[in-house]
Amino acid sequence: MSDLLGISEKIIDSGVLSEMPNRVTQELSEVGEGLAVVESFSHIWGVDTGDGLVLFDASGVLTGVEAMEAMRSWRTDRVDTLVYTHGHVDHVGGSGAVLADADRRGYRRPTVVAHEAVHARLDRYRRTNGWNLSINARQFGGIRTAGMSIGGNSGSNNLGMPNGRFLPEDVATPDITYSDAVSMRVGDVEMELHHARGETDDHTWTWLPGRKAVLVGDLFMWNFPNAGNPQKVQRHPGEWAHALREMMARRPEYLLPAHGLPIGGADRVETVLDNTATALEHLVESTVALMNQGADLDTIIHTVSVPAHLAELPYLQPFYDEPEFVVRNIWRLYGGWWDGDPSSLKPSPRALVAGEIADLAGGARALAQRAAEVADTGDLSLACHLVEMAANASPEDRGIHEIRADVYTRRRKEATSLMARGVYRGAIRESQAAIEE
Ligand SMILES: [Zn+2]
Repeated sequence: MSDLLGISEKIIDSGVLSEMPNRVTQELSEVGEGLAVVESFSHIWGVDTGDGLVLFDASGVLTGVEAMEAMRSWRTDRVDTLVYTHGHVDHVGGSGAVLADADRRGYRRPTVVAHEAVHARLDRYRRTNGWNLSINARQFGGIRTAGMSIGGNSGSNNLGMPNGRFLPEDVATPDITYSDAVSMRVGDVEMELHHARGETDDHTWTWLPGRKAVLVGDLFMWNFPNAGNPQKVQRHPGEWAHALREMMARRPEYLLPAHGLPIGGADRVETVLDNTATALEHLVESTVALMNQGADLDTIIHTVSVPAHLAELPYLQPFYDEPEFVVRNIWRLYGGWWDGDPSSLKPSPRALVAGEIADLAGGARALAQRAAEVADTGDLSLACHLVEMAANASPEDRGIHEIRADVYTRRRKEATSLMARGVYRGAIRESQAAIEE
């Protein structure tokens, strides 16, 4: 067991990320009497109600069995209820292990509770299986945390998902759903489940009044809020901030997230919730203000940023998602997909445009050469535009792909977020494959 509250206290109070808060140790730690977490991807939280356990989330398909075993090292009681904080596969993918555990022990099947939109999400995952496998391979391709590989890199591009299924076949579908809020009692524990859109459209955050604890799902995750993910469906930064304020109004003494360390202390929790909400509200308000002035997307993404005093906080670092991507999602939410550039409304094929520019520049090689020069000046963003045009104009040219692989390798090193690094890594792999052909 680790003193998780002690570690988070140290990080937040010092303002220094002295340790990585997002740990995947697969170990159980007690955070209070009858309250424990298995740090996994995602975590499983367990509450002992005196009449069975309530679990929050089931971890993912690759981690669920081991995480459930860790939970069992703490309590062997029947699992009465399994609450999904939302339907992302790292939260529901291990539910088969929770059900199998009940079966093995001769317990009745746990009741699975979730927001009503989880059903539609699970249906969508089945329908878009191939798409989700490929974007997750790009997003997570081979990251390592605490000695375990999430996504893996073992010659497969399907995240090691069994049978090539993004949504495992044995995922438990919810038995009880609700729309806005629902109160439940299990044993001697009262729970208030609240719906909020934020990272997803199906989030549940739960207030445990007896413990003054809030289980937030992914609405706080020790990273800049994942409200902009470039490869995923619409997210809701404004409603996310509103949910954080609703939590604050209850004056929680514990904040229990599905990723990263729990946080204790009413003032500390309030500060963290407030700062996270304020960062999101700032992005929403600034973006909408510029949209109202008629600004286009290009202007907005190069103008709006998170205020420095918030951007430096150890729990708002852009290691996973980035504020710039959140701004794009705010644009998409209120403005649609068109970026305001009339030439991009009904564009020519990219290769045709790139061919014209390459001809003007004296050939695709010249364009790539210029990309290398620009990269040497440090403007990797501009270098990427040029090298991308060169490769589009002359996709078979190995020399161009060597420059392209080099430019994106440098860009990837400079990128902070998992999402940007994943996309750049995809480009590097493409060019490496083109060189080897
Ligand atoms: Zn998650």
